[in-house]
Amino acid sequence: MALVVYYIIGSVLVILLGALAYRVLVMRRRVNELLNQQTITETRLYDYQTRFDTVFGLANIGIALTNLDGSFIKTNKTFYELFNYNEDELLTINIFQLMHAADLANFQTFMQHLIENKAQSQQFELQCSQKGGENVWVIITIALIRDNQSRPSYFVVQVQNISSQKKAEEKLRHMAYHDPLTGLANRNKLEQFVNHILASSRRHQQNFALLFLDLDRFKNINDTIGHEAGDALLQIIAERLRSTVRTTDLVARLGGDEFVLVITDVKRTEAVALIAQKILDTVLQAIVIKGQELYITTSIGISLYPYDGQNMQALMKNADLALYRAKDHGRNNYQFYTIEMTGRAHERMAMQNALAHALAKNEFFLHYQPKMSIDSRAITGVEALLRWQNKEYGMITPDEIVALAEETGLIVPVSEWVLDTACRQLKDWHEMGYTSLTIAVNCSPRQFKQSTFTDDVLSTISRVGLPAASLEIEVTEKLIMEDPENTLRVLYALKDLGVKIVIDDFGTGYWSLNNLRRLSVDKIKIDKSFVKQVTVDETSASIVSAIIAMVNKLGIVSVAEGVETREQYEFLVHEGCMEIQGYYVAQPLAAADMTQFISHPVPVAEMINGKSELETQ
Ligand code: C2E
Ligand code: CA
Ligand code: CA
Repeated sequence: MALVVYYIIGSVLVILLGALAYRVLVMRRRVNELLNQQTITETRLYDYQTRFDTVFGLANIGIALTNLDGSFIKTNKTFYELFNYNEDELLTINIFQLMHAADLANFQTFMQHLIENKAQSQQFELQCSQKGGENVWVIITIALIRDNQSRPSYFVVQVQNISSQKKAEEKLRHMAYHDPLTGLANRNKLEQFVNHILASSRRHQQNFALLFLDLDRFKNINDTIGHEAGDALLQIIAERLRSTVRTTDLVARLGGDEFVLVITDVKRTEAVALIAQKILDTVLQAIVIKGQELYITTSIGISLYPYDGQNMQALMKNADLALYRAKDHGRNNYQFYTIEMTGRAHERMAMQNALAHALAKNEFFLHYQPKMSIDSRAITGVEALLRWQNKEYGMITPDEIVALAEETGLIVPVSEWVLDTACRQLKDWHEMGYTSLTIAVNCSPRQFKQSTFTDDVLSTISRVGLPAASLEIEVTEKLIMEDPENTLRVLYALKDLGVKIVIDDFGTGYWSLNNLRRLSVDKIKIDKSFVKQVTVDETSASIVSAIIAMVNKLGIVSVAEGVETREQYEFLVHEGCMEIQGYYVAQPLAAADMTQFISHPVPVAEMINGKSELETQ
């Protein structure tokens, strides 16, 4: 019995152990299986990783992974080399730092659209900045990677360098629009340019000029010196033409020895005549080819938009007609399409020529016109007014002198002469005992652009020995409006010297009251066009009253210019004007007459009678 029991127990144990052993065996197998699977997964993972690293590293295309804020996570070699960085450097910056400000907003918006699922991956063609500041043209493709729960995870950015492709395109475009021999614009470019200029000139009501040029007897020269030297000659002429015009103008070669220049934003016909003359002069300079000195001349025909044509064809045709006339006139000259314009331009040029010699020939002189205080009836100062007496042209008015001289830049030496002469004259009067007398000198726009202007003023008054406060600089409201920033800078500098500032022709511009206060202007001269009307036109009268009231309130001295009659004078007295200038007090006088005048001031009541006497001088 006991044996049976032992047997049963033994059997059960064997079965249990067997089952256990089997279980262990199964588990071992399962563990082995799992271990095997992990190795496979690891191997696979390793495999993927290696493949990815190899592809990523060796890819010909720049690839980068960035965080959602654009900061770099990883970049391949092509990527960082394309931007001239090493990888570590790139990992410290943000993709946006590679882009130009102008492209940034667009790109960032697109990234946001990707995040919000409003867009799929897209390509961008743009210029990026390399480290060191060079630009590189690239195509950027950007895509968003999401995690298994579809949450935005990171961006994959691909970049392709397309700079050489862009350069090739640029070259092709250049070839399509330029003359291969000279590098100047060709007919295509000329047409495109003129169409563009036509549109903008119409919009802004600006004028432009078209100059048609043809070298004189080029064919003969070409035949004599040979084709190659002829080409070299054309290249030299092209360069000279280019240097005579501004970068906003255009020089084109139509072929052979035919050139066209487009001069934009023409304010005065004379300015075009001046350029045409400059071209004639530069073309005429000796040309040295292979050690041989050559001389060539050119003829120029000019048409003006809008007077001589409304489109390219008409302007070209008329410039061409004018060119024929220039050839007829014995070559080496220019002609406007409109004959009168040529005549006028020639006259202006001749006058400008004469003006250039006027300083040396002592043809300039100054007239002086007194300013009187209404309160004390004393002469407070005089204004220097420029005069030019020329044998051929007679007496030329200062307005015209200034217009002519501004164009050629001659205004600078002429103005220096005015300032010096006026200051020396005032010094003489001071030495005669009229020490409270001031001198007012008019200034032109070009002077204000001279960087040395303030220094010149300072050196003149110091040299002559005048107190700065006896010099008044008159500047028109219009001049300030034209270039407020620069003009005000100069005026502040003059003010610092102690020189007095007078705003001339006041009322014709729209200068703000605030500016007057800020600049602490010393005097305001009410324009004579208003003064002339005060007794006949109510609007002018109210303008003048308002200006006087405002100016007096600001503590600025109000001056009325162009006062001619007793009625005007009385109106001004009534309105509280402080000083007057005009024929009612005295005409502009030569220095000697002015000396007489200040030694015997004329009582106001006698002024009108005195005028006719003065007029005869
Ligand atoms: P402005 O500064 O307004 O000078 C006053 C002008 O009015 C002078 O003309 C003067 O002769 C004239 N005038 C004076 N009293 C009367 C009057 O009672 N009635 C009328 N109808 N006119 C009167 P002017 O001498 O022909 O000068 C004209 C302009 O030329 C001046 O106007 C001034 O802007 C400019 N100018 C004169 N001299 C110079 C100079 O040396 N340099 C510069 N840049 N401009 C000057
Ligand atoms: Ca003046
Ligand atoms: Ca004036």
